[in-house]
Amino acid sequence: MDDSKTLQKLRKYLEGRVGKAIIDYNMIEDGDTVLVCISGGKDSYTLLTMLLALQRRAPIRFQLIAMNLDQKQPGFPADVLPRYLAELGVEFRIVEADTYSIVRKKIPEGKTTCSLCSRLRRGIIYRTAKELGANKIALGHHRDDMVHTLFLNLLFGGKLKAMPPKLVTDDKAHVVIRPLAYCSEKDISRFARGMKFPIIPCNLCGSQANLQRQKIREMMEDWDHRYPGRTESVFTAMQNIVPSHLADNSRFDFRGLTLATPVDEGDIAFDPPEISASSGGSVPIGLQVPISNDNVIVEPLGRVNSTVRPSQPMR
Ligand code: SF4
Repeated sequence: MDDSKTLQKLRKYLEGRVGKAIIDYNMIEDGDTVLVCISGGKDSYTLLTMLLALQRRAPIRFQLIAMNLDQKQPGFPADVLPRYLAELGVEFRIVEADTYSIVRKKIPEGKTTCSLCSRLRRGIIYRTAKELGANKIALGHHRDDMVHTLFLNLLFGGKLKAMPPKLVTDDKAHVVIRPLAYCSEKDISRFARGMKFPIIPCNLCGSQANLQRQKIREMMEDWDHRYPGRTESVFTAMQNIVPSHLADNSRFDFRGLTLATPVDEGDIAFDPPEISASSGGSVPIGLQVPISNDNVIVEPLGRVNSTVRPSQPMR
């Protein structure tokens, strides 16, 4: 994308999405110091660009410190980020820690190294945040990452759990925020290409991509291609959970349920699943009754009109 008007439009759009996520989840408050983790990938460059723009316009005052962890992976271009961040004029800290050697030593050849690597990286980020007096840590995960994590946990972990827009670290010392929660990977990729960020490849460590995550990504891409809007729909669902219509006794007291218990969304036991017009579904799920070779009528289960005569053409 080299058309600067299109790029400016996209920038404004993404700034709007980031601003909305920050407000919706109260991610940044007056007086905060935010450590912005920069890996050299498209997401973190976009994150920093957005936060700097919002910092200039926001009615509150907050400080941004960019941080990169040089994990000593072979071929890591150590000069790229310091140069970029210095030119940008943002305060930054480069932390050098040879986690690459530790991971190589501990994990047998051919096994995925990401979980140990991430744990080591997390510890270093938290320590740096403490040293720099940052109370918030901003990560570049976006909406698609969050949806993919939901499916990973759902399909491989037996848990209805995703990646939250905001969380408290285990040591209760920091709040982690994901200001790109409302941004799609597609838009971020377009923006990063347009901005010509000096991207550092993410496969320097030589680790195999997480196979399960890769499968989920392919599955969602395929769904989105065939039925556009699925990722948005899943993300919206993450913001609209109805515990009384799941099966977790710890979230909803099914055992204590009586006629007097108010239940969200009411009795839908015999209704078909809701499909809104915006979800792109062309045919509601229900009982499909063939009328003729060309026509099908759809009746919700439980409300089947017994007078329907299958041989009669629909008008
Ligand atoms: S891809 Fe490499 S650098 Fe990234 S988390 Fe996995 S092991 Fe670490």
